[in-house]
Amino acid sequence: MAEVQMGGEAPETFAFQAEINQLLSLIINTFYSNKEIFLRELISNSSDALDKIRFEGLTDKSKLEAQPELFIRIVPDKVNKTLTITDSGVGMTKADLVNNLGTIARSGTKEFMEALQAGADVSMIGQFGVGFYSAYLVAEKVIVTSKHNDDEQYIWESQAGGSFTVTRDVDGEQLGRGTRITLFLKEDQLEYLEERKIKDLVKKHSEFISYPIYLWTEKTIDKEVSDDEDDEPKKEEEGAVEEIDEEKDKDAKKKKKVKEVTHEWELINKQKPIWLRKPEEITKEEYAAFYKSLTNDWEEHLAVKHFSVEGQLEFKAVLFVPKRAPFDLFDTRKKMNNIKLYVRRVFIMDNCEELIPEYLGFVKGVVDSDDLPLNISREMLQQNKILKVIRKNLVKKCIEMFTEISENKEDYAKFYEAFSKNLKLGIHEDSQNRAKIADLLRYYSTRSGDEMTSLKDYVTRMKEGQKDIYYITGESKKAVENSPFLERLKKRGYEVLFMVDAIDEYAVGQLKEYDGKKLVSATKEGLKLDDETEEEKKLREEKKKSFESLCKTIKDILGDKVEKVVVSDRIVDSPCCLVTGEYGWTANMERIMKAQALRDSSMSSYMSSKKTMEINPDNGIMEELRKRAEADKNDKSVKDLVMLLFETALLTSGFSLEDPNTFAARIHRMLKLGLSIEEEEEAAGDDAEMPALEEDAAEESKMEEVD
Ligand code: ADP
Ligand code: MG
Repeated sequence: MAEVQMGGEAPETFAFQAEINQLLSLIINTFYSNKEIFLRELISNSSDALDKIRFEGLTDKSKLEAQPELFIRIVPDKVNKTLTITDSGVGMTKADLVNNLGTIARSGTKEFMEALQAGADVSMIGQFGVGFYSAYLVAEKVIVTSKHNDDEQYIWESQAGGSFTVTRDVDGEQLGRGTRITLFLKEDQLEYLEERKIKDLVKKHSEFISYPIYLWTEKTIDKEVSDDEDDEPKKEEEGAVEEIDEEKDKDAKKKKKVKEVTHEWELINKQKPIWLRKPEEITKEEYAAFYKSLTNDWEEHLAVKHFSVEGQLEFKAVLFVPKRAPFDLFDTRKKMNNIKLYVRRVFIMDNCEELIPEYLGFVKGVVDSDDLPLNISREMLQQNKILKVIRKNLVKKCIEMFTEISENKEDYAKFYEAFSKNLKLGIHEDSQNRAKIADLLRYYSTRSGDEMTSLKDYVTRMKEGQKDIYYITGESKKAVENSPFLERLKKRGYEVLFMVDAIDEYAVGQLKEYDGKKLVSATKEGLKLDDETEEEKKLREEKKKSFESLCKTIKDILGDKVEKVVVSDRIVDSPCCLVTGEYGWTANMERIMKAQALRDSSMSSYMSSKKTMEINPDNGIMEELRKRAEADKNDKSVKDLVMLLFETALLTSGFSLEDPNTFAARIHRMLKLGLSIEEEEEAAGDDAEMPALEEDAAEESKMEEVD
C-alpha cells in the first residue's frame, strides 16, 4: 500500500539480494551476546563517509557547502524508543541506497555467514564488509535518510523480511548533506537508549574516530521557584515536578524545588590522533583501542610500531600486525592495502598502492605526512618521490617489527602461521630486503623436532666440512620426512630443511643462498657430497661401471618416462628414486602446477618435468635385477620389476601416479607371486568372475553367425 502524501512520492519496493536476506535472517534469529558492536559499525560507516567528503572537499570546496561542519551526532529517544545516528558525510544517492544497502552482495557476505555458522563471533561482521546489517541485532526496523550532493534526499526503510523500500523525501527535515540512521529498537534492547551505555560504548569502540561524536544528553537541574511563580505548564510537560513536603511545611512562602530538564550536545570522544602523541605516554590498551577502531578487528593487535621520521622529510606512523590473517588475504580480486594516508592530520586515502608493497598488505596502520600536498591526486602519488621514501621506511620498520615479534616464541608462532606466506612472497618480490626477510623464515627439518628452525640456527648446526644448506620440498612434513633423497644426507649428519609450503619452491628459487651458503635441493640432480675418500670413490666408480648395462636396460624398458637412468650417489636404503634436472621442476613444483591453473591437459606433457632415475647399486633388489637382466635381457619378470620400481619411485619421490589401476594390478600380480599362487590357479580364479560358459558359447555362435 503506497502512502502518497501531498507532494510526496510513492515508496518503491526492492527485494534483498538472496545472500543478504539469508544474512539478515541469521542476524535476527540467532542469539548473540555481543550485540553492542552495532554502534561501532554504524559510527565507522559515518566516519568513512566523512572521510570521503573531506577528501572531495580538498580539491573542490563547493562540495562542502551544503553542510560545512563535519560531525557525527547520536540521539537516543526514550519516548519513541529510537536511536538515531546522523553524520554529515558524503551521503548516498538513491542508487547508492539501493545498491549498497540491499541489492548488491559483497564478497564477504557468504564468507561471514560461513564463519558465523562455524562459531565465529558476530563482532567480526565489520571485517567482512557487511557491518551495516548489524543494525538488525538491536532494531526491528531501520530507516536510513540520506542526501548526497548529486541527488535528492531519499529514505530507505526496512523491517528485514525480504524487502526494503526507497522513497524520495520531500517533506522531511532536510539534511543538507549526509546520512541519518534511525533504529527502532527491539523491546529487549532499550538499554542502548541510556546515556551511560552509549558513552561507554563510544569510549570502548570508537574513541579514536577523527570526527567529533556528539551525544544528545539530558541534564536535570534543581531550580527553586516560589509557588505562585510556578505557572508555566510547559516545564511540567518536559520534566517531572516534585514537591518537597518538608519544605512545604516549613516554608511559609511555599517555595518549590523544580527539576528542570535541559538538553545539550556533549562531545563524547577525544579526537587527538594517537600518532601525534609520544609513544611512551600511550598505554597498550590505548593502542589496542585505536587498532580496533582503525580495523574493525574484534581482537587486539599482535604487535605495534609507532615512530616518526624527521629530517629532510617528516612523517609519523603507527603500524600494527593483526593476530590473524583476514579471510581474504590472498583474494586476487582485491588489492590489499591497510595503511591510511593522512596529510597534516587530514585523511587522504586508504588504498594508496604506492605506500606499501603487496606482500606487506596485511600490516595495518596510519601514516601522516607533513610534506605531501593536501590536494594530491592519485596520478601524482604514483611518481611521488616523497612517497617512495615513506614506503622504504615503512618496509624497514615492518621488518623491524617482525624481528621484534620473533623474540617471543609464542607470538612468533602465531605470526608465522598467519603470515609466513607473505614473508615468502617478500623473498620473491623484494630483492632489496631479501636477506633480512630470510632471517625471519622458519622451517621444520630433520633435526628441528617440534619447533621450527631459522636458517641462522641451521648454520650454527652445520657439520664441519658442510658447505651447503640442504632442503627438500614436498607436500607435507610427513611426505618428505622419510623421503629416500634424505638417506645419504642424514647418514652424514647433514640437516635437511623441510619446505612444504607451495610457495617455498618459488621463494627458495629466488633466495638461492643464505649467509654465503648455497641452498641446495636434495631432490634435484647433481647433488654432490664431496667428503668421500679416494678409496671410497674408486670403489664407487667400479660399482657404477658394473651397473651401466642395467641402466641401459631400464631406460629401454621405461622409454620416454625418464630422461635417463644413472647410478646414484645419494641413496642408501631405497632401491631407486626419481630426480628432476637441476633447472627443471621438482616433484613438488609439478604437483603445484598440476593443481593450479594449468589444468589444460595439452599443457601437461609440456610441463611435466624431465625425470632422471637414480638407482642404488648397494640395494639387494638392484643387484638381483642386474643378475637377471644380464642372464636374459627379455626376462618378463625384469620388465615387470622395473615398471613397479619406477611407479613406486614416483610415489616416494613426491610425484603422482598417472594410472593407479595398472600400478595396483602389477602389485596384485606380485602379491600372488609372493603368496605362491600359481598362474593356472590365477587363471581359474579370474574365470570364475567371467560370464558363464554357456553364455560364452552363445556369444561365440553369434559371432559365427555374423561372420
Ligand atoms: P563497509 O562499511 O565495509 O563498506 P557496510 O555494510 O558497513 O560495509 O556498509 C555498506 C555500504 O553502505 C558502505 O560501503 C557505504 O557505501 C554505505 N554506507 C553505509 N553507511 C553509510 C553512511 N553513514 N554514509 C554513507 N554511506 C554509507
Ligand atoms: Mg562498515
